[in-house]
Amino acid sequence: MDYLRYKIIIEGIVQGVGFRPFIYQLAERFGLSGSVCNDTRGVTIEVEGTAEPLQQFIATISDQKPPLAVIQSVDIQTLPVRGCDSFTILHSAVDESRRAQIAPDTFVCDACLAELFDPTDRRYRYPFINCTNCGPRYTIVTGIPYDRPLTTMVDFPLCINCQAEYDDPASRRFHAQPNACPACGPRLQLVSADGSTLDSVDPVAETIRRLREGQIVAIKGLGGYHLAVDAANQEAVAELRRRKQRDEKPFALMAKNLEAVKELAVVGSDEARLLQGTERPIVLLGKRSGHGLAGNIAPGNRCFGVMLPYTPLHHLLLQNFKSLVMTSANLSDEPIAFEDDDARQRLAEIADAFLSHNRRIHTRVDDSIARVMAGRPLLLRRSRGFVPRGVALPGESCPVLAVGAELKNTICLTRGDRAFLSQHVGDLKNLEVYESFRNTISHMRRLLEVEPQRVAHDLHPDYYSTRYALEESGLPAIAVQHHHAHLASCLAEHGIREPAIGVIFDGIGYGADDHIWGGEFLVGDLKEFQRYGHLRYQPMPGGDLATREPWRMALSYLQSAFGEVPGDLKCFEGIAENELRLVCQAMIKRINTPLTSSCGRLFDAVASIIGLRQVVSFEGQAAMELEMLADPGQSSAYPYRLLYQGGQVICDPSQMIESIAKDHLSGVVGSRIAGRFHLSLAMMIEEVCAQLQQQTGLKQVVLSGGVFQNGLLTEMVVPRLEKTGLTVLTHTLVPPNDGGLALGQAVVAAA
Ligand code: ZN
Ligand code: ZN
Ligand code: FE
Repeated sequence: MDYLRYKIIIEGIVQGVGFRPFIYQLAERFGLSGSVCNDTRGVTIEVEGTAEPLQQFIATISDQKPPLAVIQSVDIQTLPVRGCDSFTILHSAVDESRRAQIAPDTFVCDACLAELFDPTDRRYRYPFINCTNCGPRYTIVTGIPYDRPLTTMVDFPLCINCQAEYDDPASRRFHAQPNACPACGPRLQLVSADGSTLDSVDPVAETIRRLREGQIVAIKGLGGYHLAVDAANQEAVAELRRRKQRDEKPFALMAKNLEAVKELAVVGSDEARLLQGTERPIVLLGKRSGHGLAGNIAPGNRCFGVMLPYTPLHHLLLQNFKSLVMTSANLSDEPIAFEDDDARQRLAEIADAFLSHNRRIHTRVDDSIARVMAGRPLLLRRSRGFVPRGVALPGESCPVLAVGAELKNTICLTRGDRAFLSQHVGDLKNLEVYESFRNTISHMRRLLEVEPQRVAHDLHPDYYSTRYALEESGLPAIAVQHHHAHLASCLAEHGIREPAIGVIFDGIGYGADDHIWGGEFLVGDLKEFQRYGHLRYQPMPGGDLATREPWRMALSYLQSAFGEVPGDLKCFEGIAENELRLVCQAMIKRINTPLTSSCGRLFDAVASIIGLRQVVSFEGQAAMELEMLADPGQSSAYPYRLLYQGGQVICDPSQMIESIAKDHLSGVVGSRIAGRFHLSLAMMIEEVCAQLQQQTGLKQVVLSGGVFQNGLLTEMVVPRLEKTGLTVLTHTLVPPNDGGLALGQAVVAAA
C-alpha cells in the first residue's frame, strides 16, 4: 500500500477549544501517524497514512470539530513520506505569520456542570471548574500564542492531578489553559464593605444569606463585577437604584434556567435560542404579567433584560434564587469595575459586600445585549461571548484601525479578510473610559499582531476618538461620515459590495455639510455615498443639551408647526419661564442652536409633547419609552409632507407634530399617539424608499442607526419595504447603534 503525508493548516478559532486532543484522537481512530501543534496561524497537522483513512480523517475534522471551534480555512499540502509510527502533540511553535485567533469567553459546559454538582467529584462545588470546551478565554489572555503563561492563570501552578489532565490527550482538560481545582486554583473570598475579609464563612453560603436579607453584593464575574440583589425584593432594588445615583436604566436579571425565565417573561423560540447560545447574552423579553418580581427593575419598560447563568459561580448562587438582579458594577457613565482594588474603592458606597476571587481579569468585558426583532436576532451590545470573534469581510485589505464613535464606543482592527470588533468600551467623554479605549487598541493590536497602516475616524472633529486618530495614532487618517459608516457596517456584515439604499436613522452624527444628521436616506456602497434625502432640518436649541432635555426639541418642533407654542400644552410646566424665553430667543438668534435632521430628536420631541419625558438620564431613553408606550394596533397615520429641493427628498414632519399636539390636547391617550407616530414614520420610510427604488433601480435597502433598535418601528418598516419589492438588510452580527460604527469605518477606509 502506498503511504502519503499531508501538511494541513487550519485557521480560525482553533486554539483553546480542544482542537489538538480532538485531532490526536481522530488520528488514533484512523490509525494515522504524525503530529499536531498550535502555531500563530492556528493549528498545523502533519499526518501520514494510506489514502482512504487520510481522506476520512480530513472529512471528519470539519464534521465533528469541537463545539467552540470555528474553522475558517483548511490548507492541505503534500509532503514527502517520513515513515513515523505514532501521533504526537508538539509544543506551541512561534513563527512569522501570526494569525491565530483567541476564543471568546464561554459559558460553563454541561460536562463541567455535572461535575460541579457531583459530591464525589474532586471539583464538587468548585466555582472555577472549566475544560477545553468552556471557561474564560479573552478576558484572561495577556498575549499570544494562547498558552497558560500568557494568561492570568500563570499565578496558579498546576497540582499533580491537574497537570496529569493537562498532559493527557484523552482528557477533557488536555491543554485547557485555565484548568484548576480546589487544591491549586483560584479561590473565592468574601470581603465586607469595610474591607475586612470574612474568612470563617463559606463565601457562597454567606453571599446567599446576605442577598436573601436584601443586601447588595458585588460579585466578580468573567469580565468584571456585577451588583446583585434579590430580584423579588422591591426595597433592595430601590436601595440599589438609590446608591447607583439617579440611574433609571433597566437592571439586567439572571434567571436560574429557561423555565425560570419563562415564568417572568415571554420567550419565543428565537429568544430561547439566543438565551441558550454559547455567547449567553442578556436578551430583551416581554414581561409576563404576574411575574412576581420587584416593580422597579425595569420601570417604564415592557421588557426585562434576562440572561442565564454562565459561570460555575452563577450556577452555585442561582441554586437558591429563581432570579437575581445582576447589573454592571459601575456608577452611571463609568466603565464596569474589573480590578479588585478599584472595585472596592469605586463600589464602596454601593455594595454591602464583595464576593471576589484571585483570578485576575486582564480585559474588562461587559455583558452583551440582544433582542429578536422582525424574526431576526439583533445585537444591541456586542461584547462578552462574541469578542474577539472576527467578522468576514467581502475582500482582503491592508490592515486598518477604526476608532469608532464617541458614545457606545468600540474599536475595530482588520487583518486580511477579517474585521475584529472590540468589546464595548463606552462613552469616551469619561476619562477612565478613554483610558480603556487606548488600552483596548494596544491590547488588540498585540493579540492580533496587526500593524495597522491607516486609521479611520468619524468626521466629527471633537470626538475623543477623532482626536486620538489625528493626534496620537501616528497613522495616515481617513475621515468617514457617520451615517455612511452605519450603512457600510451593515453592507459589510452581509458581504455586499454593490450599492444599496440606506435608511440610516439615529440620534446624532456629524454631517458632510457641517449640520447634525440623523434621519438620512443614502445611496452608497463601501466606497462612497450620496445623500438622497433626509428629515427636514430643525433647530436644536442648546446643542448637546437638547439630547438630554427632550422638551427643547418639542419647543423647536412646536414653534415650526404652530408659529408659537400652544399655551395649553402641559409639557413645559416644569420648565422655568425665563429658561423657556431664553431658549426661544436663542433659537431665533441661532445662538448655540445647530440644525439637525435627527430622527432620535424627533422621537424626543414627541415624547415631550405627550408629557412622557422632559429630561432623560441616559441616551435614547425618551425614544425607548415611546416605543414601550406605543399601542402597535394603529391603522391610521399622521400626515407628513415630502418636499423636493435640489434633487433631494426632504421629509417634513410639521403636520405630524401639529396633529400629535392636537390629539394630546383633545385627550387621546399616549399609547395611541405613540403607536400612530411609529406608523407614520414607517409609511414615510416606505414612500421615500419606493421613490428611491424607482430612481436608482436598486433592490436592496439597509436599515441602520440607533433608531433601528426600535422593534416596533422595524417590524412596521420591514414588511412594507418587502412589499415594494426591496430586500431588507438589517444587522445580525454587530449593533445598528454606534457600537457597530467602527466596523463601517474600517471597511470604508479599506475600500
Ligand atoms: Zn467544560
Ligand atoms: Zn489542581
Ligand atoms: Fe449613529
